Amino acid sequence: MTAGTIDGTAVSRKLLAETAERAAAFTEKAGRAPCLATVLVGHDPASETYVKMKRNRSRKNGITSRAVELPETTTTDELVAVITELSNDPEVDGILLQHPVPAQIDERAAFEAIAPGKDVDGVTMYSFAAMAFDLPGFHSCTPGGIMRLLDAYDVELSGKHAVVVGRSPILGKPVGMLLLNRHATVTYCHSRTTDLADQVGRADVVVAAVGKPELIKGEWLKPGAVVIDAGYNPGNVGDVEQSVAAERASLITPVPGGVGPMTIAVLLEQTVSAAEATI
Ligand code: NAP
Repeated sequence: MTAGTIDGTAVSRKLLAETAERAAAFTEKAGRAPCLATVLVGHDPASETYVKMKRNRSRKNGITSRAVELPETTTTDELVAVITELSNDPEVDGILLQHPVPAQIDERAAFEAIAPGKDVDGVTMYSFAAMAFDLPGFHSCTPGGIMRLLDAYDVELSGKHAVVVGRSPILGKPVGMLLLNRHATVTYCHSRTTDLADQVGRADVVVAAVGKPELIKGEWLKPGAVVIDAGYNPGNVGDVEQSVAAERASLITPVPGGVGPMTIAVLLEQTVSAAEATI
């Protein structure tokens, strides 16, 4: 068997086109475009690139952005004050605090200063709880994007065994909750899991969210499994041994061009939803 490709670029393009249409309709109605505030603390080159990409993509899709750049030496109190101000600003619809922040900052305190209605990156405890309870709210963007990919390819989840490798608060843990809400039987694996190959071998759906190049071996997979490789390691290498996995899986996300493009698309879609909720 050779796996079909889950084309994240194509799915994200469609989502962005729908988002741009909704942004234009909002702009006409509200007399202003939806606005995403991006908050960047310090000068981490990767973070600067990510913020720039998010702002460019916003502009191309009819969303304005407000860039807030703070010095490396910013304190928790200063950052919380800036985010609180954005939370109270009626012209700002969504707030993105680029992660990671410098070590002296209490990142959780900063995230929690984001008003739930503006938490378009899905990082607050409120958003996490709403997602876990399957109530309306914003999703963490990469997990939200993964669910959209599975839906775009009509992957059946109810009663299926999903194995999520990784349990980070922004990726592994939330994607497992979303799969559970869709009635999958979910197993989480992490760095202390002692039988990773066996666990992966039982999965109908595997989500790799580790950050270790080709950790998940193709020969571990159950034939016909659906593989979502969220890993993004230097040299465009995923967390799954793609060449062998593609021989056993029924569907697989490539790296790049799989999960990656969905993250920004969901961020922008959620920004427009936040704006729409204000009128
Ligand atoms: P993270 O915070 O470093 O979490 C990694 C997770 O992998 C942890 O839960 C860790 O377990 C687990 N792990 C580490 N070694 C393991 C092993 N040998 N066996 C099983 N589990 C192991 O990373 P993250 O932020 O979730 O990101 C994961 C990957 O996704 C990275 O490659 C990142 O670049 C990529 N990513 C992509 C996007 C996108 O837009 N495409 C967005 C976010 C992240 P413990 O909890 O026990 O430490």
